[in-house]
Amino acid sequence: MQHRNINRRHFIKSVLLGSSAIALSTRVGLKAAGALENTSVIVVGAGIAGLGAADMLRKNGARVTILEAKPHIGGRLLTDWSLGAPFEVGAGWIHGPSSDNPTKQLADAVGASYVVTEDENAWYFDPEGYEYDDDEFERIVSSWEGVLDYIDSNYEENDPRSLLQAIKDYRPDYLNDPGIMWAFSAFTEFSKGGAIEKLSAPLFNWDSAFDGADVVVTSGYDELLKPLAQGLDIKLSHDVTVIDYDNDDKVIVKTDKGSFEADYCICSVPLGVLKAGKMKFSPELSGDYKLSIEKLGFGSVTKLALKFDKPFWDIETQYFGAATEPKGRWNYWLNYRTFSDENILLGLSVGDYALEADRMSDEEMVEDALEVLRNIWEDDVTDPIEVLATHWSTDPFTLGAYTFPQPGNRKSDFDDLSDPIANRLYLAGEHTIFDYAGTTHGAYMTGLRAAEYIIDEVS
Ligand SMILES: Cc1cc2nc3c(=O)[nH]c(=O)nc-3n(C[C@H](O)[C@H](O)[C@H](O)COP(=O)(O)OP(=O)(O)OC[C@H]3O[C@@H](n4cnc5c(N)ncnc54)[C@H](O)[C@@H]3O)c2cc1C
Repeated sequence: MQHRNINRRHFIKSVLLGSSAIALSTRVGLKAAGALENTSVIVVGAGIAGLGAADMLRKNGARVTILEAKPHIGGRLLTDWSLGAPFEVGAGWIHGPSSDNPTKQLADAVGASYVVTEDENAWYFDPEGYEYDDDEFERIVSSWEGVLDYIDSNYEENDPRSLLQAIKDYRPDYLNDPGIMWAFSAFTEFSKGGAIEKLSAPLFNWDSAFDGADVVVTSGYDELLKPLAQGLDIKLSHDVTVIDYDNDDKVIVKTDKGSFEADYCICSVPLGVLKAGKMKFSPELSGDYKLSIEKLGFGSVTKLALKFDKPFWDIETQYFGAATEPKGRWNYWLNYRTFSDENILLGLSVGDYALEADRMSDEEMVEDALEVLRNIWEDDVTDPIEVLATHWSTDPFTLGAYTFPQPGNRKSDFDDLSDPIANRLYLAGEHTIFDYAGTTHGAYMTGLRAAEYIIDEVS
């Protein structure tokens, strides 16, 4: 989730940049019907980027095979209904659900239902578990915004300082203010998927967004993938180990279940998988790609859904924020009663604490999170009757949540990853688009872009 609606600058940017985003999302259409009918393509990864690419290529007549390591499609877009309400394992919100947002278009096409989540409908608690009053909360938010304004006015795009350093330079006293540090964690670390110590001060906030208040998809987010996947040749539980793109105009893709051959390949595995280097490219990717893969940041966000017999919290309030120690520890909670009948609180750990939480067992995670809730609701907190937890940074086919700019990164570290490799291999995925990294719409747009490269190459 990204609290982009709380940040007025994103609104302004979305108005300015919306038109180019529309162009990118819609310009890829059908060329001459069957233009690719003698062309074969292997797509590695069945997330929204891979499925979007495959769908577009198939519509243009190509023979497409998707190789997916997991036993299901969706990647970081996956809904679990076992608690009786949609638990979004990865993406939870459509950010900026305006009519030109391509994810919103896909969701509308399957008749999805939505609920707007409102940052204003929230209670915020200090480290002792007492609620912040309105004036104090206003001070916290305006201090947080003050730092963003300071960076905007004083930093160049290539400034190598981290966000933490920027806070130190501007107002070192903020580092000892638990409320302000909570805002940096709950808003910024959550939004960007990385700790403030590791975020590039100028770049973390200079991406783009579509217009509109964020929504959750109450009919289940992953439904929107179904039309993309329908009728495609998707080979699940196929772990790709080597992509060999130097073979007499063919690409040979090796998996744990045998080899596949095609004219072109789109590789949409997450940045974490590329960083780990377990999947090999032959020949190796050139230095620029390797450097960007190494330099870009990839953190985690941990989700924990606790289902209770009955609510001990105010069921009308959408969010609860908690200024916890250490920074990032279960500091934001979404109340499912505001859009379902289930007594579920969804807790989030972010920043470097998410990496710690990911390594906990589910039992340890629940104990850790209950301690935070008991600090607020004391003895009213009961034991949960059901639990779901995520561990994205230890998931071997993801190894993190989403991509963020580190100090010293350039926007081009993201965008140049999509440059065609030997006019045969194309990287796609949320890590290949600076403006919309870390979102489902960004990932989808990169899939369409990779498909377009192939269409242009063949035509
Ligand atoms: C906790 C969390 C919260 C998020 N919240 C939001 C949100 O609220 N809103 C939003 O818009 N976005 C959100 N995102 C980001 C969004 O989910 C991603 O940007 C998007 O889904 C990425 O899609 P993708 O196709 O690039 O990658 P993925 O969905 O990760 O797809 C890549 C696929 O490659 C497969 N793969 C990996 N290795 C191999 C291999 N060796 N062989 C074959 N296949 C392989 C993977 O299994 C996976 O299915 C969130 C992500 C996370 C993790």
